[in-house]
Amino acid sequence: MTDSREAVKVIVRCRPFNDQERRDGRAQAVEVESRDGQVAVRSASEGTKAFAFDKVFGPDSRQEDVYDTACAPLVEAALQGFNATVFAYGQTGCGKTFTMEGRDEPAEQRGIIPRAFDHIFQEIQKGMGDREFLVRVSHLELYNEEARDLLSRDARERLELRESPERGVHVRGLKEFVVKSAQEMRAVLEVGAKNRTVGATLMNQDSSRSHSIFTIIIETVDKPGSGGGSGGSGGGAASSSSRPASGRPGSASPAKAGAGGSSIRVGKLNLVDLAGSERQAKTGATGERLKEASKINLSLSALGNVISALTIEGGAGGHVPYRDSKLTRLLQDSLGGNAKTVMIANVGPADYNYEETLSTLRYASRAK
Ligand code: ADP
Ligand code: MG
Repeated sequence: MTDSREAVKVIVRCRPFNDQERRDGRAQAVEVESRDGQVAVRSASEGTKAFAFDKVFGPDSRQEDVYDTACAPLVEAALQGFNATVFAYGQTGCGKTFTMEGRDEPAEQRGIIPRAFDHIFQEIQKGMGDREFLVRVSHLELYNEEARDLLSRDARERLELRESPERGVHVRGLKEFVVKSAQEMRAVLEVGAKNRTVGATLMNQDSSRSHSIFTIIIETVDKPGSGGGSGGSGGGAASSSSRPASGRPGSASPAKAGAGGSSIRVGKLNLVDLAGSERQAKTGATGERLKEASKINLSLSALGNVISALTIEGGAGGHVPYRDSKLTRLLQDSLGGNAKTVMIANVGPADYNYEETLSTLRYASRAK
C-alpha cells in the first residue's frame, strides 16, 4: 500500500479543529489512521469513504515529523544535484501555509521552508571540507496564469515565461539572490511573503488565489585537491546574481564534468504553496473573479493531470501534458524524470467541509 513509484509521494495532513469550529460544535468528519496510511471521510448521507496514501498525518502531527517525511529526503536529493518539488494542496484554511511556512514562535511550529533552510546549511557546513557551494533563491507568484517576482521592487510587473536550450523553461528577469546562511534565506522569504500579501491588496486580489513558488538552487563543485578552490563562493551578503548555472539544474545525470576535472552538480528544490482548491460555484464568484477562478482551476487541474500521467506512465514514454498551464511548464524540469515530487494534501476535520475534503482526497489519490 505504501508502494508508489519513487517519483511521486502523496501525503495527507488533517489540521485540528479551530476555535470557531469548536464553538459551533462541528462534528468530526475525517478519521486518520496514521499507522496504515488511511484516511476516512464520513457524511450522514453518503456514508464513509476510505483512501490510502503513502503517509497520513492527523491533527496532532508535529511540524518536525512532516518535514522529515515530506522534505528531508528532497533536500538530500537537491544537494546531490537532483530536482525536487514539494506542493501543499487543499482548500483555503486547511493548513497549506501552516505546513509550508508555519509560525516563527514557538520554534517547533516552524514549517517546511524554514526547516529546509536550516537543513541545507547544516549539510553545507558538513560538506565544506571538500566541496564548494553556491546557493541561490528566487520567489515568484502565479496569479491568473501570470508570473510576478515577489523579490522585485516592482512586484506588480508581469513577467514572461521563456524557454531556451541552456535554461529550459524559466521566468524572464526573475531575480535570484545568492544566500550564505539560513538567516539570509529567512530574510528573503520574509520579503517575498510580505510582497505576496501587500501586492494582493494593492491589486485588489485575493492571495489565497495565487500559487507561491519558492525555489532554492544549490550548485556544488568538488574542490580540486585539498588546498585550493576558486570560483563560485566569493561575494558578500545577499546580492542579486545573474550568474548562469553550469548546466541545467537536475538534468538527467546529476554529475557533470566541470573545468579542471572537478565535478559540478546543480540541484533545485521548489517549495510550492498552491492556490486554494475550493470550487468557486460555492462562493458565488462572478465577472473577474470567475475568470480568475477558472484559471486557477486550470493550473490545479493541469498539475493533477501531469502528476497522474507521471504515476501511470512511470514517467517513461507516455505523454505528460506539461504545457497545459504555466505552473506545470515552470515546474517541468522538477516533476518526473529523475526529479522527486511530494504532494501534501491538506484537509480540515469538520463535517461542513465534507465536499471539499472529499474532492481534495480524490485529487490526491489520482496522484498516487
Ligand atoms: P491555508 O494556507 O491552506 O489557507 P493556513 O495554513 O493559513 O491555511 O491555516 C489556517 C489556520 O489554521 C491558520 O491560523 C493556521 O495557523 C491554522 N492551522 C493550520 N494547520 C494547522 C495545524 N496542523 N496545527 C495548528 N494550526 C493549524
Ligand atoms: Mg495560505
